[in-house]
This record gives sequence, structure tokens and C-alpha cells, in this order.
Amino acid sequence: MNSKEIIDKYDGAVIGSYGRLGLALESGGGAQGTDADGKIYIDFGSGIGTNSLGYADNEWADAVSVQAHKMQHVSNYYYNSTAAEFAEKLTEMTGTDKLFFGNSGAEANECAIKIARKRSFDKYGDKDRTTIITLVNSFHGRTVTTLSATGQEHFHNYFFPFTPGFRYVEANNIHALREAIDGTVCAIMFEFIQGEGGVNVLEQSFVDEIFSIAREHDLATISDEVQTGVGRTARLLAAEHFGVKPDIVTLAKGLGGGLPIGVCLTRGEYADVLTPGTHGSTFGGNPVVCAGGLVVLKRLSDPEFMAELRRKAEYFRKSLTSLPKVKSVSGLGLMLGAELDGIAAGDVLKAALNKGLLVLTAKAKLRCLPPLTITYEQIDAGMKILREVLSEQF
Ligand SMILES: *Cc1c(COP(=O)(O)O)cnc(C)c1O
Repeated sequence: MNSKEIIDKYDGAVIGSYGRLGLALESGGGAQGTDADGKIYIDFGSGIGTNSLGYADNEWADAVSVQAHKMQHVSNYYYNSTAAEFAEKLTEMTGTDKLFFGNSGAEANECAIKIARKRSFDKYGDKDRTTIITLVNSFHGRTVTTLSATGQEHFHNYFFPFTPGFRYVEANNIHALREAIDGTVCAIMFEFIQGEGGVNVLEQSFVDEIFSIAREHDLATISDEVQTGVGRTARLLAAEHFGVKPDIVTLAKGLGGGLPIGVCLTRGEYADVLTPGTHGSTFGGNPVVCAGGLVVLKRLSDPEFMAELRRKAEYFRKSLTSLPKVKSVSGLGLMLGAELDGIAAGDVLKAALNKGLLVLTAKAKLRCLPPLTITYEQIDAGMKILREVLSEQF
């Protein structure tokens, strides 16, 4: 099938809930993908940070197929060694105590919300101590409850009624955060860098305030690291940049190297809130997914890989900053947003696509989330295309 045939077939059978680009990707290696017509693309998006090791990493693909040949799924009535190994390694690496296995970012956040609310109820016996503070411009997922948690009005549409119990505070506004606290609040949930919201990094003073308010009022701190986690910011967790330890951390996108997984990591008393029968997920802890995830974790626990990742991230940032019409660059590691001067990011995305480069946007910014394995040559090749595009007149 050529691209056009694929697109027609797909659109004829799949609900049109996405605004898509006319591109059918069929194979790839590292930071390079090939479409159905044989055209090659450099990928600065990695499936929104999901293909953390790039396309079809050899070690990852081998581990996944070995596990698929052994056993593809084990019910949560039973145990499995691959899931056990993955969970032990991830909790050790993140300095957390226990995790819950789900399949997506939204599901990981649902679990975090349930844990925060149940812990509050268990401890205070108060059905009204349930409010979760989230930030304006946040993004936490597409389920009815995580849409509620998302602090963007345009997401609070069509699917009424939304889950109550969320209160939105402007990011980096310490005064507004203090004002929002009352006896009904049980948790504060935030992204260290708002991804979908425009690659906005929280200020250190605001993060510190979140944690001191949480201590004062015995609130759960929930960091949604679905996008920022798993090496994306050139640290295992973005929390490391801020020197804080949230009670609950959610991870998803890059964690499975491209396979569906979402986990809710917990510390201390939060590790024992959910008891048998209070939560579940049929596919959670799937061994094929965990086998892929173990390769991601192995790579990220190699100090050489992490040192190289930090160098590459610096190089990427410098290259992006030096492009024409780039006013400023926000973000950390390989999660970067470029503010453009007089050009719509969506137009740049489309022109880059035509020239063989995949990029993302976030609000008005051009967003780059390349695979953590991208090479210097691929960075240069992608930047060359961006330079050409940004030098043109729109
Ligand atoms: C992508 C994303 C989600 C939602 O993840 P899904 O896997 O699409 O459910 C939640 N939070 C953040 C910060 C994200 O970037």
C-alpha cells in the first residue's frame, strides 16, 4: 500500500478524533523513520517522547520478541518474573517504594488521584477533603477525570458532567497557590515542565513552595512526569533538577520504549493506600511491555549513556537556539520548546515535514522531543532542515 491508500483505508475505518498529517510511517531505525512511499524522515518528535530509544532499537526489539515467545500476558491474579524485575529496578532507580502498573499516562494519573483521595479519606475520614490543586495550562490526560484535572478550559467541554474536586492555580504564582488552600484540599498535582501547555519550566521557588505548603497542610505532592520522566530532561526524573521528592510520581510515555505502559510510583505511606480490590488494570504489568521497559531502564542506568545524553542535550539546545527566528528556547534536556519570531509553529511543522523532518508544536512553540539515542549527525541533519525552513518567507 502507498501512503494515500493507507490513509484512505484508515480514515474509512477509524474515528476521526485526531487532526492528522498525511504521512504513513512504516519502518525505521534510531531517529530515522521511513514512510510508505520510501521517503526518509529525521524524527525530532519520537512519537511525543515515546520511542525513547528511537525506532526498532536492536536490544529492545530482541528483548520484546524473546518475551513474546515465552509468555505474552499474565493475569494480575498471578505473578511474573519480568514484571517483578522491572518493578524492582524502577523503584530502586527512582528512589520510590512501590508502583502500580497501568497502560497509559492518563491511567497512571487516575491511579495517583485515587491514591491521594483514599489516603486523605483513610486518614481524616472526611469525604470533603478531596480537592486536588492542579495548574493552569497543565495536561493530565483524556479520561473524564484527568480532563477535569487538566487546567485548560477548552478541554472542559462536551463530556459533561466532569469529575468535581479540582482547583486550578496559575503556575509560578505563589500567592495564588496559598490562596487556593483550604480544608478541602488533599493534594497538589503538577508537571515540572508543562509539555502540552507550551514547554514551560516551573520556577524553583514555586516548586519549593508546593512542597512547603504540602508539608504544612499534610497534602500529597503528585508530579506528573508522564512526559518529563525517563531521561527526557537528561536526568531519570525531572524532579532531580529541583531537588525534591514527590509522594507520588507518574510515568508513561518513554518508559516502554514505545510500548504502552503507565506507572504510578509512590513513597512512604502512599505505597500502602491501595488494598486488594480497590484498584486494577487487566493489562497492567504486561511482561512483553516490561521486557521492553527493562531495556530502557538498563540504558538509563548506564552512567556513560547519561553523560552522553547530557552532552547531546546541550548540543541540541545550542543548535536550536542559534537558528534564525528562534527568539528563545525553553525546557530541559531533550524536551525543548522554541519561541518563534513572526512565524506560526504549525507552518514550520508542515514545511519541515515536506523536507523530511518530524517536529512537534506546543501552543505557539515548536517542540522537540527527539529520541534519547539521536546521533550528532542526525541532530545536524534535522537542524539543517529547520534552518532552511526558518529562513524562508511565509
Ligand atoms: C501525554 C501526557 C499525559 C497522557 O498520557 P496518555 O498516555 O496519552 O494517556 C498525561 N500527562 C502528561 C504530562 C502528558 O504529557
